[in-house]
Amino acid sequence: MASVTLSGITKSFGDTQVIKGVDIAIGDGEFAVFVGPSGCGKSTLLRMIAGLDAPTAGEIRIGETVVNDLPPKQREVSMVFQTYALYPHMTVRQNMGFGLMIAGTAADAIAARVAGAARMLGLDALLDRLPRQLSGGQRQRVAMGRAMVRDPKVFLFDEPLSNLDAKLRVQMRTEIRALHQRLGTTSIYVTHDQVEAMTMADRIVVLRDGRVEQVGTPVALYDQPGNAFVATFIGSPAMNLLPARLQDGQAVLAGGSRLALPAPAAAHDGREVLLGLRPEHLRVQAGGGLRAEVKVVEFSGADTLLACEAAGHAVQVLVHDRTAVAPGDAVELAIDPARMHLFDAGTQQRLP
Ligand code: ADP
Ligand code: MG
Repeated sequence: MASVTLSGITKSFGDTQVIKGVDIAIGDGEFAVFVGPSGCGKSTLLRMIAGLDAPTAGEIRIGETVVNDLPPKQREVSMVFQTYALYPHMTVRQNMGFGLMIAGTAADAIAARVAGAARMLGLDALLDRLPRQLSGGQRQRVAMGRAMVRDPKVFLFDEPLSNLDAKLRVQMRTEIRALHQRLGTTSIYVTHDQVEAMTMADRIVVLRDGRVEQVGTPVALYDQPGNAFVATFIGSPAMNLLPARLQDGQAVLAGGSRLALPAPAAAHDGREVLLGLRPEHLRVQAGGGLRAEVKVVEFSGADTLLACEAAGHAVQVLVHDRTAVAPGDAVELAIDPARMHLFDAGTQQRLP
């Protein structure tokens, strides 16, 4: 096990800089998730940690060791890919043991480690099968087993569940977390899926366009998003953002709707803001302050999503109880001021 520290990392491909100065410190034994939209540089960061790509500038440390000049094998990291990357002509047993064999590990030691990993992953009965005789989930487990037998200091996962169907993805999420709890190995897990990030991470690193937007626990990112991007990226359904002007302790919206503000907002009187309202915090309530028209009602069992229009914008409201609200209804929406998020309309940064 080891910490992983990235300092001042940049990466250019030709003239294009894709990583634009990244500093991240991951603690020993931590399960960190890098999340961000496709193309933001997640895989590039992971490949640099693994040693498959070199940074243009900056330092990568694993534990106390600067690894910039170490080849992948000497970094003691194991990477699990989205595509599994199994050898099609080798059995599960051979796939899992291959890396150790190449490294010159004795046959009986390989057999013992493969058996141990197979037991932990529930692959015992499948050791003599070929990859094509396995389901997607089983193949992904073999890919993890192959990473585990090397007993690395750090696991690197690059969207390992993206090729699985939704149900299996949820199940494997839990398995990977349980495995981390047993092994305690430092893990960096890359995904574009914020729900995966929220459910799996000790700490999340939100990336956008080659830069770190915010680092924090899932709860911290949900409760205190540092800017409008993180606010709308973390949480499902996404936070509503509405332009408003702060005036006399109220937020004044297009069309004249007014919402009471949390007390500290008084310091920002007169400011143009983006008002952040999570769908699950809005309530349909007479006199609620935010006038809205219901456009679509989506019942999904446990809750109902109301797609509304308010202050000239689309606003989603998540209702947990059955609702008599119907498309075309004029309603008012309320929110507890303490649950409001305020962002500067210009800089998009959170207001304290
Ligand atoms: P992510 O994994 O977040 O989807 P990547 O790290 O794969 O993003 O890519 C980040 C950016 O770098 C993208 O714009 C991608 O096109 C570019 N990129 C990645 N690898 C290369 C490469 N080998 N050559 C040129 N551009 C690349
Ligand atoms: Mg990627």
